[in-house]
Amino acid sequence: MTSKKKIVVLPGDYIGPEIMAAGLAVLAAATQGTDFKYELIECRFGGAGIDQVGQPLPEETIRTAQQADAILLSAIGGPKWDQAPIRPEAGLLSIRSALNLFANIRPTQVSSAQIERSPLKAENITGTDFVIVRELTSGAYFGKPRRLDHDEAVDTMYYSRTEIERVMSVGFQMAQKRKQHVTVVDKSNVLATSKLWRQIGKEFSERYPDVQVDYRYVDAMSMAIIAQPAQFDVVITPNLFGDILSDEAAQITGSIGQIQSMSIGANGPNLYEPIHGSAPDIAGKGIANPLSMVNTVAMMMTQSFNENQITTKIQAAVDYVIAHKIVTPDMGGDQTTASVTKALVDFIREEN
Ligand code: ATP
Ligand code: MG
Repeated sequence: MTSKKKIVVLPGDYIGPEIMAAGLAVLAAATQGTDFKYELIECRFGGAGIDQVGQPLPEETIRTAQQADAILLSAIGGPKWDQAPIRPEAGLLSIRSALNLFANIRPTQVSSAQIERSPLKAENITGTDFVIVRELTSGAYFGKPRRLDHDEAVDTMYYSRTEIERVMSVGFQMAQKRKQHVTVVDKSNVLATSKLWRQIGKEFSERYPDVQVDYRYVDAMSMAIIAQPAQFDVVITPNLFGDILSDEAAQITGSIGQIQSMSIGANGPNLYEPIHGSAPDIAGKGIANPLSMVNTVAMMMTQSFNENQITTKIQAAVDYVIAHKIVTPDMGGDQTTASVTKALVDFIREEN
């Protein structure tokens, strides 16, 4: 008898609980009758944490999360807490450091069903399938000193060798399992941190002779992602550049309502979440696109549990609803969160 996997569930705010329910319904259907057994542990996080215990990341949530096998988060924050003494989003930074989530992975994939929704021309994006590996806990967002005076402001961009090496390891190992191609992004013609970044990239290229490596300045990269996105496989980037590039990449698919991401924990569980926010403008209307959360669940099943067959089942259901235009308004359809979820669950049950 294999032990039950512990999955911590953070439903969050606004559309968060709506799409989480959809993701969990699909998880239940896809794991039914398999050997994969799990236990869901729901915890407070974000605005829900502030409302109930005055903290976006309550102690108890941290402790529970640290002992989990994986963490599923939907989305947090929103206008309700604009005047609150502490913002829900502060919880995100806290959970990243509590779990030591040092790398963020965002896939960009354009299936044939999505091509017409893209703002780009079909011939330029056909075959696009890459992941951005973004360093998450250092660089310009965390460097000290940081100071804002009346006439002067300072930010610091800092990287240590160890911080760069662990994110390179994640990226190169991922490339080995994909298309054996890494693109190292930096601004090494100007920045010292980027010089170190590129140098370590070169060291890894020697350690991984089976992986083809190229190097791009971030400015050139931001053009190439739009002009020829299909040429990339694994893109490894410092924190600040990755923040920008991954939002840019998300637009290739035409809707942020379907994209998942994962953050890798240094010695604990990974955290999985959609890339979008809590979408207060559509909360409660029943039209939130559940595909982002469903894809998030699929990613977790492969990356944390090695359950590739379950992931494939979920992906087939997602392809099916997109191909049959059983989608929410953000993807040009007229369906609801509930009806898309039902179509996914029915498809999975019939396939079983
Ligand atoms: P954050 O700062 O938390 O990233 P944001 O202000 O960038 O939030 P989002 O909450 O990501 O904004 O929403 C941006 C737009 O995308 C909104 O119009 C929102 O309704 C839409 N959107 C986001 N997620 C979904 C979804 N799952 N389904 C449908 N529309 C969505
Ligand atoms: Mg945003």
